[in-house]
Formats: sequence, C-alpha cells, structure tokens
Amino acid sequence: PYSGPTAAEILAKRREFLSPSMFHFYGKPVNIVHGKMQYLFDEKGRRYLDGFGGIATVCCGHCHPDVVKAIVNQTNNLQHSTILYLNHAITDFAEALASKLPGDLKVVFFTNSGTEANELAIMMARLYTANHDIVSLRNAYHGNAAGTMGATAQSNWKFNIVQSGVHHALNPDPYRGVFGSDGEKYAKDVEDLIKFGTSGHVAGFMSEAIQGVGGIVELAPNYLPSVYDSIRKAGGLCIADEVQSGFARTGTHFWGFETQGVVPDIVTMAKGIGNGIPLGAVVTTPKVAEVLTRRSYFNTFGGNPVCTAAGLAVLRVIERENLQENARVVGSYLKDRLNTLKDKHEIIGDVRGRGLMLGIELVTDRTLKTPAKNEIARVMELMKDMGVLVGKGGFYGNVFRVTPPLCFGKEDADFMVDAMDYAMSKI
Ligand code: PMP
Repeated sequence: PYSGPTAAEILAKRREFLSPSMFHFYGKPVNIVHGKMQYLFDEKGRRYLDGFGGIATVCCGHCHPDVVKAIVNQTNNLQHSTILYLNHAITDFAEALASKLPGDLKVVFFTNSGTEANELAIMMARLYTANHDIVSLRNAYHGNAAGTMGATAQSNWKFNIVQSGVHHALNPDPYRGVFGSDGEKYAKDVEDLIKFGTSGHVAGFMSEAIQGVGGIVELAPNYLPSVYDSIRKAGGLCIADEVQSGFARTGTHFWGFETQGVVPDIVTMAKGIGNGIPLGAVVTTPKVAEVLTRRSYFNTFGGNPVCTAAGLAVLRVIERENLQENARVVGSYLKDRLNTLKDKHEIIGDVRGRGLMLGIELVTDRTLKTPAKNEIARVMELMKDMGVLVGKGGFYGNVFRVTPPLCFGKEDADFMVDAMDYAMSKI
C-alpha cells in the first residue's frame, strides 16, 4: 500500500518548488505511483490504461522486466565511463542501432534528449555544408534550445530569443493544408523558399514523418522524396526527426521516414528509445560525422553505460516480442474502430496516423473544421475517470494523441474506444 503524499500535497509542492511553466493535461491530475506494461496505477491502486505514455517515455511497456534488469545490472556494475574509459555497453548499442538503419547511416552520437539530438544534427548539417539556412515545417516540434526552437514552428512553443536562419515551409497536412493530400504541391513551396528566401544554398531540411506534438499529422504522400531532391540540389542535408515516429511505432516500418521511401543523411531519436531512461541519439554517415573532428566534441552523460544498456534491451524486446508487428495489427484494428466511431460522433473531424501513432481531431463543425477545444478537455477528463489516459496536441489543442506502449493489445483498443464512445455521448 502507498503511504506517500496525496495528489493535493504533490500539487501544492509543485506550485511552490517547481517551475510555474510546468503543465499537466487534466483539471484533476492523477497521482501515478506504479506502472506495469500498458497500465498505470494511482495511489489507491486504481488502474489506468496508458494510451499516451508510449511516446514520451516508454516504448516496450512500463517497467518492462528485461529493460529493468538491464538497467539494474548495469547500475550495479558501472554507471559512468563515456569519456575516460572503454566500456562495451556504448559500442554494443551503437552497433545494434546502426544495424537498424539503411544505407551508410552507421555512426552514432549519443545525447540525453531529443532537443540535444536535433541541436547536434542542425550543427552538423551547417558544418558539413558550410551553409546556414535550415528549412523545417510549420506545425513542427523539434526541441526548445535556441537552434531547435528555431526549427520548431508553433507559436505556443517559441519564445522571443534569437532563432536565426530557419525557414518554415507549408505543412503538407492532408486535413487542414491548402493542397489536401497532394505532397508534390507542398514540396514546391520548399523549392520556392530556397529560391526566394535563401542564397540558393541551404544547410538542410528537418522534419518528422508524422508530426507528434503537432497533432499526429502524417505528411502527405510523396512529399519527402520531392523535398529531399530539392534540398540536395541546394547542397543541403536531409534530417529525419524520429523522436516520436521511430522505433517500430508506425507498425509498417521501423522508422517513420521509410513510410515515404526516403533515406535521410541524419536521423535523430529520443523519448521511448530508452523506455523511460534519458537517451537520445543522432545517426549519420561516416562522411558527415567527420565534421565533429574539427574541434573537440563530447557530451558528459550521452551514451553512459546505464542508458545504452537500457537502449539495447529495448531493441531486443522490440525484436523478441515482435512489437512492430503488434503495432501494425493492433494499430490498424484501433484505427478501424476509431473510424467507425467517427461515423457515429459528429465531433470527430478526422482519424489519422499509422500503427500505434494515431490522432483523432475533434471539431464542432466538420465543414469549417472549428477546433473543439473545450469539448476535448471534457471527453479527456471523462475518459480518465473511466480509467483511460490519452494525450492531447495539435496547434489548437483539439487532437487526441493515441501513442500507447507498443505492447498495447486489441482488448486495450476496445476498452479505449468504448470509453471514448461513452464520453462523447455524454457531452
Ligand atoms: N522532436 C520531436 C518530434 C519531439 O516530439 C520532441 C519532444 N516533444 C523533441 C524533438 C524534443 O525532445 P526532448 O523533449 O527530449 O528534448
């Protein structure tokens, strides 16, 4: 039994001792004291189905025993050695990670977060090309340090600090974008940005294959091949941000970029790859990696043995438990059920995404696509009361983000959709 502080006590301490910028999604947030695979438990032992945490922290399931074991073993053995000594944990994971990537993408730099990974990717593109301009997509989230905040393109996440040399292209958003699902038309905008907004030479292009924070927006088909072409003609490198869409989540592919049939020059990843342990990575080609030998470069905790042991265990679990296939099968079942729900509830404007990265956009008017901001908060709160947690996102905050741990089952999908159905019928 739990004997720690109550939710109210924690909230009071958060207000007093933590950053006032910290937010949570619920009017009455739950106090989670334990996690087991796709479930979370509050201080009273009440179980919640976790439909969101898969993206942020966990990919194989909360406290997956194999990952816990790897972390505990490594913690007992040696916790830090990246800079001074040799240790096999970092090379083992780097080798395993490289084997999951196509082409010549095989040199790995470890970081502690997605922001750090993207900062490093942007810097390497600039160094390699000797150009400065970066193109990223409107509605993207890439991080919150100076460079990545520049690449992030939603006013909600941008502060008034210098964010130089980033151009934001039209978002190839099939639901809200001006060209619908015509990827090539949006790609033309990148060509125009290069022509009219730069010297004609760029450092690179950065994008997610499915925007996460942006509200699970899957880029219009054929977009990336055209854009990668234009960027490379302008001397730039193509960077794939796989912080959310990577690591088997789309079900059909291990990496999000593969759904568009492209091969990037730099791939970044973080979040679920350590199953809750702070771990990020940048993978690139030996040629691009060379740029960091021009000066000294290191990251104190990046790639420390505990984190990389966790990362390796995660890869093994994904393979052994066939989690990519599970994401495909359960994800398409869940998407079908959500589409049926859309036929029933007028408030659902769009159901989208792939595998276990799905979005449900709520609107008060399907023609005008008016964001159902207040309604989504009520549905979310009701679902929580029924024991189902889902995420929320999108520029207007009106999109449910369903990104559970990859061990999510069909019964979980049924429970989630039934709870959503009931909650929607109540508002
Ligand atoms: N890229 C994407 C696609 C993300 O969703 C995020 C985090 N939401 C980041 C980068 C930044 O990751 P971190 O919060 O670990 O810095």
